[in-house]
Amino acid sequence: MKRIKWKEYYKIICHYAAMRGTCPKAKVGAIIVKDNNLIATGYNGAPTGMKHCYDVGCINDAEGHCIRSVHAEANAIIKVGKECNGAELFCTHVPCIECCKLIINSGIKKVYYSNEYLDNRAQKLGYKSQKEFLKEGNVEIECLGNVNTQMKLNFKEEDWNWRL
Ligand SMILES: [Zn+2]
Ligand SMILES: [Zn+2]
Repeated sequence: MKRIKWKEYYKIICHYAAMRGTCPKAKVGAIIVKDNNLIATGYNGAPTGMKHCYDVGCINDAEGHCIRSVHAEANAIIKVGKECNGAELFCTHVPCIECCKLIINSGIKKVYYSNEYLDNRAQKLGYKSQKEFLKEGNVEIECLGNVNTQMKLNFKEEDWNWRL
């Protein structure tokens, strides 16, 4: 019997978390793992009680970043605070520069991601990308590839039960 590896296991859970994301530009999921234990999940969405992008539309800044949502990584980090020290973060995307700052200061030591994302604000800060920025902050980053197509096919939005 084959057994799913830890990284793959958490990568998939992270992609599930993204299903709760509420910004049509990108559904992003993030989870925090410490000592092989999932301690927090997060997805991108408007602050609690406020209207979400999927209801009232995105609000973009001059560079095209939607500014309505709290990002998935930030939502996961604030749930566990100091517990992040020494933990690892799995994210569906390369974190934006603002989330990279939080990741560095939270004490997270490694980031795993599936989808590339280049935030032009990283270059404004003098780095090639957020990856270089994270390395400078002593955070490792590794691409785990995407989830396979078959898994995505099995979770079409029209199959979800919206009334639960
Ligand atoms: Zn949005
Ligand atoms: Zn972010």
